[in-house]
Amino acid sequence: MIREWTLDTHLSQYFYNIMKVLAILYRGGEAAQQEPRLLGTVENQLGIREWLESQGHEYIVSDSKEGPDSDFQKHIVDAEVLITTPFHPGYLTADLFEKAKNLKICITAGVGSDHIDLNAAVKKNVQVLEVSGSNVVSVAEHVVMSILLLVRNFVPAHEMIERGDWQVSDIARNAFDLEGKVVGTIGAGRIGYRVLQRLVPFDTKELLYYDYAALPEAAAKAVNARRVEDLKEFVSQCDVVTVNCPLHEGTKGLVNAELLKHFKKGAWLVNTARGAICDKDAVAAALKSGQINGYAGDVWNVQPAPKDHVWRTAKNPLGAGNGMVPHYSGTTLDAQARYAAGTKNILDHYLNGTNQEPQNVIVGVGKYESKAYGQR
Ligand code: NAD
Repeated sequence: MIREWTLDTHLSQYFYNIMKVLAILYRGGEAAQQEPRLLGTVENQLGIREWLESQGHEYIVSDSKEGPDSDFQKHIVDAEVLITTPFHPGYLTADLFEKAKNLKICITAGVGSDHIDLNAAVKKNVQVLEVSGSNVVSVAEHVVMSILLLVRNFVPAHEMIERGDWQVSDIARNAFDLEGKVVGTIGAGRIGYRVLQRLVPFDTKELLYYDYAALPEAAAKAVNARRVEDLKEFVSQCDVVTVNCPLHEGTKGLVNAELLKHFKKGAWLVNTARGAICDKDAVAAALKSGQINGYAGDVWNVQPAPKDHVWRTAKNPLGAGNGMVPHYSGTTLDAQARYAAGTKNILDHYLNGTNQEPQNVIVGVGKYESKAYGQR
């Protein structure tokens, strides 16, 4: 039975160990009503409302996340648990941490917790967990698709067909094979490594990676990947660069105007990690000038991306080279099932005071537990 909220929240939390759980999710609209497997939506609520309420907990779910009057800012004041998703990030800044007096744990339904000020979480003894691995295959597949659609000049070819035109040479003049190219990943963690694995059968000239953490020897050997330790040298050797590292102090604006000068002229760039790792205007300018031949990905420096965001329409000198989509690579229905189950599992451990699975803990009580969010 749903507990009546007649008692003062803090008193009832104290006496009955009742929690207030706040989830900021994206609105699914008609699609979410028709498709219950869209679990990560406001409508379908990660499938945990009944489970939480049967234990007496309060569960607030909303997509309203911007500004002081948003549900996010209103309820963060006394929420004990915050669930957010990278697809519709509720930005938990250091200022908001000051207001979140009751907050104990932030759970990312998905992978990537950069929307939480992790240093502030450390300072405030608030744990941050994510459902590690839950959507890494989903993203790796999207990366491979994006590499292929840029290299093979797919998007303008399809648009031509829809327009009713047929001019093979207009497409073929900028279409290539992936075979024989050099592909490199910035970040060779769960996603980056899976991208390398999936590229092996394409007979690329070489697979490279740039990461402060070296791959275990056997793993590097299995995909025949060579590590390049200097970023400029790394990009200068790649025909395709794919970005697969988290966003943190050390990666914000990493792909900027200066680095783009060191790219091979006409290289392709795919970023499904986080929009802010690439400098928005520098990437658009490099694409416009032909310094890069294409840019694709699903992540944006602000989400939802404004209608006039330059990445929506940026093109290379041939009017092509744009493979941008909304943030969905890691929220396929398969991924949603995994990250919804993973969120429930993290909550269950929290409720029962049992040990969390170590790979999910980004920030433990008072300290970073993950080595992926920058070298410390
Ligand atoms: P992971 O922790 O397994 O791997 C991250 C790797 O990046 C680690 O090996 C780490 O050492 C490396 N790294 C960190 N800083 C670096 C730097 N400055 N330079 C080079 N490498 C660096 O994480 P993962 O599961 O592979 O996910 C990576 C990121 O992908 C997430 O943090 C998230 O931002 C993004 N992601 C996006 C989606 C999507 O839907 N688009 C979904 C899941 C994850």
